[in-house]
Amino acid sequence: MEKYSESAIRLTAIIETATDGIITIDVNGIIEMANSAAAELFGYSKEEMLGNNIRMLMPSPYAGQHDNYISNYLRTGHAKIIGIGREVTGQRKNGSIFPMRLSISEVNLKDRRLFTGIVHDLTEEKEAEEEIRQLNAELEDRVEARTEELVNAVNKLLDINRQLEREVVDRQKAENALRKNEAEIIKALEAEKELSQLKSRFVSIASHEFRTPLSTILSSADLIEAYTKAEQQEKRLKHTGRIKSSVSNLTAILNDFLSLSKLEEGAVQVELSEFELISFCKSVLEELHGVLKPNQRIVHTHSPENHVILLDKKLLRNILFNLFSNASKYSPDGSAIHCSTKVEHGQLFLEVRDEGIGIPREDQQHLFTRFFRAHNVENIQGTGLGLNIVRRYVELLNGRISFESEEGVGTTFYIQIPLKK
Ligand code: ATP
Ligand code: MG
Repeated sequence: MEKYSESAIRLTAIIETATDGIITIDVNGIIEMANSAAAELFGYSKEEMLGNNIRMLMPSPYAGQHDNYISNYLRTGHAKIIGIGREVTGQRKNGSIFPMRLSISEVNLKDRRLFTGIVHDLTEEKEAEEEIRQLNAELEDRVEARTEELVNAVNKLLDINRQLEREVVDRQKAENALRKNEAEIIKALEAEKELSQLKSRFVSIASHEFRTPLSTILSSADLIEAYTKAEQQEKRLKHTGRIKSSVSNLTAILNDFLSLSKLEEGAVQVELSEFELISFCKSVLEELHGVLKPNQRIVHTHSPENHVILLDKKLLRNILFNLFSNASKYSPDGSAIHCSTKVEHGQLFLEVRDEGIGIPREDQQHLFTRFFRAHNVENIQGTGLGLNIVRRYVELLNGRISFESEEGVGTTFYIQIPLKK
């Protein structure tokens, strides 16, 4: 046995204890040396490996190509692994294949060349890598699944949101309807309350206004009883006259109230009919004669054509009657009341002018308010309802009413009503 140098012994020890496999081959691929780690890695004993071609450790197709590979390299110097190192597959004795990292270096001795390969088993690393890859894939799958779940959840939330929004809108609609209902009820209640206030107000005014004509009637009746002689007929007539005017006074008040409560109840309907304007005015004026004061006269002027108009007779009569009775009531004995009527541009124009007490400027703005009476009326009787009714009748006919007045000079009322063809 040759005597090894000390460094050779040390090297052999290092090779033997290395954890990676170390194998040396010659230019023909014949294994010259293999350490224990290599033997263990490939499942052979060292003896089985030595003297055999390195092919035995490679799976096909590499095994078949290896000889060519070495000769190619020797001829061209062109290497694919030598000095580089790469991942390849090895084959164990039992035929199983495993991944490994192989680094090869070339050893040039004096008379021949050798190749040394260091083999590192990558099985565990590959397994770990695979595990990580699988884990990653699983994770990705899970993330995908979770994302889908999230998307579904978000969609469901959006659906719920939309549903809620719809519900909110519906509820708002219902609430609005309810509120509207409530407002209508309140309005109706207020109208009812106002009507009942109106009625009680009227009762107190009427009872006050009724007292004078009723006591006139009573005292005149008493006096008539006392005038028993035939020659006292004139006195009797005077008192029956007073009784008549008192009764018509009472009737007027009652009519006012009736008109007003009908208006309040919305029970006044416009009833159109055709009639001649001039003859209609004449009949109203005739009716008025009983109301006029001594020596008062009505001067009626009208456009020459006798128009046939389509209007509500009853409402128009009431309007005229109210205006004339005011004109008479608030003017002195012997004064004239001017009335003019004309039809122009499809409209009826009415004008009633008196030479009476007039309406104080500061009272004028309240004139159409019910129960309002100007402060210059003194003891002239009235309830303050007439003009309110007039204005509402005019409005029912889509017309307009206005007036001009100067205290102590007189008052003119103007009415304009559109006519239907
Ligand atoms: P009634 O309900 O009996 O008609 P009234 O005459 O007092 O009572 P309105 O006809 O509504 O009530 O008139 C309201 C008020 O307007 C009157 O009280 C009076 O002060 C004033 N007025 C109306 N017409 C005239 C007029 N032609 N001249 C002066 N004042 C008038
Ligand atoms: Mg009046």
